[in-house]
Amino acid sequence: METTRIEELRSRAIPPASHLIEGTPHQASDGGTLNVVSPIDGSILTTMPKGTRDDARLAIRSARRAFDDGRWSGLAPSSRKKILLKWADLIEANAEELAVLGVRDNGTEIGMAYKAEPLSAAGTIRYFAEAVDKIYGEIAPTAPDALGLVHKQPVGVVGAIVPWNFPLMIGSWKLGPALAAGCTVVLKPAETASLTLVRLAQLAIDAGLPPGVFNVVTGEGAVVGAEIAESHDVDVLVFTGSGATGRRLMEASAKSNLKRVYLELGGKSPNIVFADAPDLTAAAKVSAAGIFRNSGQVCVAGSRLLVQREIHDKFVEMLVQNAEAMWVGDPLDPNTQAGAVNSEHQLAQNLAFVDEARTAGRTIATGGTRILQETGGTYMAPTIITGVQPDDRVVCEEVFGPVLTVQPFDTEEEAIALANASKFGLAAGLWTADLSRAHRMFAKIQAGVVHVNTYGGADITVPLGGVKQSGNGHDKSLHAFDKYLDLKTAWIKL
Ligand code: ADP
Repeated sequence: METTRIEELRSRAIPPASHLIEGTPHQASDGGTLNVVSPIDGSILTTMPKGTRDDARLAIRSARRAFDDGRWSGLAPSSRKKILLKWADLIEANAEELAVLGVRDNGTEIGMAYKAEPLSAAGTIRYFAEAVDKIYGEIAPTAPDALGLVHKQPVGVVGAIVPWNFPLMIGSWKLGPALAAGCTVVLKPAETASLTLVRLAQLAIDAGLPPGVFNVVTGEGAVVGAEIAESHDVDVLVFTGSGATGRRLMEASAKSNLKRVYLELGGKSPNIVFADAPDLTAAAKVSAAGIFRNSGQVCVAGSRLLVQREIHDKFVEMLVQNAEAMWVGDPLDPNTQAGAVNSEHQLAQNLAFVDEARTAGRTIATGGTRILQETGGTYMAPTIITGVQPDDRVVCEEVFGPVLTVQPFDTEEEAIALANASKFGLAAGLWTADLSRAHRMFAKIQAGVVHVNTYGGADITVPLGGVKQSGNGHDKSLHAFDKYLDLKTAWIKL
């Protein structure tokens, strides 16, 4: 994006946000609002509704009606496709505005946000739109006296609860397949990244999505999110966020209507570097980006470096150089490589992890501090901690900040054991020139994705999902439809 365009969009006043229910802007039923604080400088950007349980119920009823009367699922697939493609076009046409709005709200550096947020959301919606009329049912290989027709039907009302790190990207991973399948949706954005998703919903209406098919309710997780999770009218709950909230959602499902719950709960992903890595300079550069971009606020971030002992000191030094060369600061400066930490709350949490490690005598090889405090924003220096122990909290828990721990290993077996010594299993990285070793390790590492001789690449054609306590189910790729399409059999006696 051009700097002048960014600056023009940055200076725009942002009108108060609204829920979007039945295609119409709504305020909270009791008039409550939340301030939207920018992590760039701590300023108040605007307000948004502090949603009530009544607001959530209104949105759920709207989605229920819209599903039950078939205003969306009853359309010809080609008609649904046309509307979704129009929506993707509108997202793309408004990409610059959406990108800057999102950065002002959540602090991700603009270079990354522009591609990863509106442009990727448009691509995701388009991918699933194009699939709408390419999904077939089946005829089962029954005996000749019967006909078994296996239909794929939309599951119904989807509750989507999404986080603040990549609201449009992760939101569209849920919205794309859900809406393409013919479901209706109530979405709750995170408290600290709601503005772009409200705008996205308005663009869906502009594209011709019937009112009530996609509703957004802003507000607090424990109120709006909890109401969606406890509702008897929501058939499927899809979530990306913390493990603690994921557990609450499963409980709420168990206590209400046993709605299906699909969780993406982050990770503590090992990035394993062998001495025979084809290019250590590239490995250091990509590994640094793999943990420090977006200030580490990436669910697949490679936050646990496992490095073969013989190159430990050399590789740590290379990483420190990369970390210290990173440009941290104003996320609306196109040169910035790591923007703001999303909130004061998140920054305090990150620093507490570092303080604990420091107190325990671990080595802070670089960073470990809040920086640029004079801006009023929330920034943290890329941080590398060496000399850690396997049961240190900073090694076991997801920090969700720019904090990398380093552990040495000697053998392949030890690397696998360390990699798998985690309750999480979302992503992993592996750097080696030995193809046989790469295949052996790929099979043994417990993770949804293993990057080999790179870290963090992906696109919409491959599934993303975790094992162990990183969650269940998959976003992205055609496999994402599994969450939103039910199999239903017609058994016909011939
Ligand atoms: P984080 O710690 O990264 O903010 P959370 O799991 O708290 O992760 O937040 C992810 C999403 O879950 C947000 O939209 C948040 O509002 C929502 N949320 C938080 N608590 C609850 C809850 N008790 N019930 C439902 N949703 C919740």
